[in-house]
Amino acid sequence: MKLFTCSRCGNLLYFENVKCLQCKSELGFVPEERALDFIDPIDDQRLTYISAANGKTYQKCRNYYEHAVCNWMVDVEENEEFCIACQLNRTIPNLSIGINKELWNKLEIEKRRLMFSLLQLGMDVRSKNKDPKGLAFDFLADHDESFSERDRVMTGHADGLITINISEADPVQREKMRTSMEEHYRTILGHFRHESGHYYWDQLIQDADAIGEFLDMFGDEDQDYSAALARHYREGPPENWKEHFISAYASAHPWEDWAESWAHYLHIMDTLETAYSFGIHIEPRTLNGDNLAVKISFSPYMERDFNTIFEHWLSVSFALNSLNRSMGHAHAYPFVISPSVVNKLDFIHKIILKNTERI
Ligand SMILES: [Zn+2]
Ligand SMILES: [Zn+2]
Ligand SMILES: [Zn+2]
Repeated sequence: MKLFTCSRCGNLLYFENVKCLQCKSELGFVPEERALDFIDPIDDQRLTYISAANGKTYQKCRNYYEHAVCNWMVDVEENEEFCIACQLNRTIPNLSIGINKELWNKLEIEKRRLMFSLLQLGMDVRSKNKDPKGLAFDFLADHDESFSERDRVMTGHADGLITINISEADPVQREKMRTSMEEHYRTILGHFRHESGHYYWDQLIQDADAIGEFLDMFGDEDQDYSAALARHYREGPPENWKEHFISAYASAHPWEDWAESWAHYLHIMDTLETAYSFGIHIEPRTLNGDNLAVKISFSPYMERDFNTIFEHWLSVSFALNSLNRSMGHAHAYPFVISPSVVNKLDFIHKIILKNTERI
């Protein structure tokens, strides 16, 4: 993630901010510039604004001015009510019920982080509402009127539609799920990243030249998906799964292996960009510190060689985990990446570079 600055007063901003805490300016994120900066109203009803990011005229996304669950802007010439992130919503939770709005807000915050990474990677992000090959989100609760008590909403992806059970935004429920699934890591952002991986597999691999290399690396994707998942939940992962997979769940089926690897690729790219934005320089004060010494002097989105990205990631994740432990938190990145997983991440990196014609 980039680090944002209010260009009116120089204050540093968080991606989620709607107001500069120092100069009180209203803020808006302009997706095409990937910039969060102050916005100035240009009409009395505060319907349109000049963005300091590029001097163009924007309006707030409808989810910004109506529900305060978004801080993105829409170019007035696009004639859209919603920003490019909110245009992907097909179903939002019933806001008249309990804490649904709060849960939805948490989902939107993390969804925009996913969107930011996809835009940084140059990925095509189209709304399924306009194009059948596009992407859409259903944010559903287990007990919406449309569902019987017995129906549980399954978080997952099918043909460009990503369904998220909004209980994932409730930390108590999510922690219950995490422990019952024996996972070391479970976050809303992780869900978004994982499910987007299934969508981009359809776009980038399924009918593309890359399918051959995919099969060699991830295995036969023709094997029965439901049976593979049932086996995984019944028997658990193979004993040596850590040699080949980033997580136990990745061993369930090649599609899940891809989606898990894709999610980790996005974790790494986003976190390294943050480290780069802060000018992080790691120089451990130990006898063997040279092994971990790195200066994050490049944005990972500009780096073509994944091994360079990975070497920097080893140092950053080690430091990050140690900082987290100092605060009494669990490791921020509780994973060990084996050489065969590095190959999978390298494959994803090359596919994305090729897709965006950066190689
Ligand atoms: Zn300011
Ligand atoms: Zn929006
Ligand atoms: Zn999946």
